[in-house]
Amino acid sequence: MIGALRIWEGLEAELGCRVGWQQGGNLSLAFSEADLVARRDWQRRAVEEFGLDTRMLSATETHALIPQLATGRGVVGAMYTASDGKAEPARATRAFFDAALGAGAAVCFGEPVTRIDTSAGKVSGVQIGDRLYRAKTVVTAAGAGSAALLRKAGLSLPQEFIRATVARTVAASDQRIPACVSGQQTGIRQDVNGAYVISVAGGEYDLRLDSWRHMRWYEATRKSNPDAARIDYLAPLKRLLPGKTTSPLADFPPSRDDARPEPFRVEQARREFAHLFPVLADLQIETSWAGIIDVMPDVIPVLGTVDGISGLLVATGFSGHGFGPGPMAGKVLSELAAGRLSPVDISSLSPMRFERQ
Ligand SMILES: Cc1cc2nc3c(=O)[nH]c(=O)nc-3n(C[C@H](O)[C@H](O)[C@H](O)COP(=O)(O)OP(=O)(O)OC[C@H]3O[C@@H](n4cnc5c(N)ncnc54)[C@H](O)[C@@H]3O)c2cc1C
Repeated sequence: MIGALRIWEGLEAELGCRVGWQQGGNLSLAFSEADLVARRDWQRRAVEEFGLDTRMLSATETHALIPQLATGRGVVGAMYTASDGKAEPARATRAFFDAALGAGAAVCFGEPVTRIDTSAGKVSGVQIGDRLYRAKTVVTAAGAGSAALLRKAGLSLPQEFIRATVARTVAASDQRIPACVSGQQTGIRQDVNGAYVISVAGGEYDLRLDSWRHMRWYEATRKSNPDAARIDYLAPLKRLLPGKTTSPLADFPPSRDDARPEPFRVEQARREFAHLFPVLADLQIETSWAGIIDVMPDVIPVLGTVDGISGLLVATGFSGHGFGPGPMAGKVLSELAAGRLSPVDISSLSPMRFERQ
């Protein structure tokens, strides 16, 4: 992530276009003594182990930093990292896409990869429809689609899917909050147009017929973080009767995975935003959407090579935190794909870590 930050800092110059990058800091609010203890522990590790500029703020300092944050809302302090930043996902991914085309990448749209072809312990290509694209190196970076592809190639990854809802307000013309703010339930970021994008911590786990497959891997995660996912036992039924569910209005076209935002999460987002920032409470929720978080049991990404299948690289399972570190993940993969060593130690992210247990 630290490596990614260095890339983000120079990205607009490198790509020659604006991606909404702003180094506005990251503020994690504390609402109790227990929150403070947990954040102090993070802060100490951030400074001592990683040399970051993370510091603790008192309640008064927190309110001074973000004047729109109302007093009397239970904020007892915060952890603040001034060097952290934000960018616009749609602009950034488009900019990378254009830069890849400019560098000679060929792109094939419309049909999924159905199989990673291997022979004699080596990757030989990918199958799309009835065509085989030959390649000596294949990077599997298919988000929530990765585990299914890799399973067919012989690597079992206990990747699961959480449906997470996001709400966005109309733009606030006169109020600016440069920092990303984490509240009790939400993560709040003001976008380049002045609107607030509010992600709700936690999401829906839509039960599937093969949900049993990875159950054992998630026992410990569920115990330590029971609110991370609400199990929707009726999801298989809802898939059969899609007309029976109601979704809030959205101005985004549905993605292929057809992830629905949950109206009650949108309301959760609106309520906490208005509670923390009453001066912004009049901003209407303009739209909402949902995305699939491809999660791993240890909630850290899978990045690296696969034992026994030479030429196969994996970058997936970012567990809801793939946009920020994305540029560095790309850098690591490009080095590995060129047959060089990773510029940072990625051994703890190995795709093989689940095979060994
Ligand atoms: C609601 C929400 C909020 C988030 N907030 C943050 C945040 O604040 N900060 C942060 O850092 N991250 C955040 N994330 C996480 C971040 O968006 C992801 O970690 C990141 O997008 C993962 O990138 P990826 O390239 O691995 O996968 P994706 O972005 O999912 O890309 C994978 C691509 O592969 C394609 N694909 C899948 N299967 C196949 C196939 N068989 N053949 C061909 N193509 C295929 C998919 O269609 C997709 O286009 C959030 C995610 C969600 C859902």
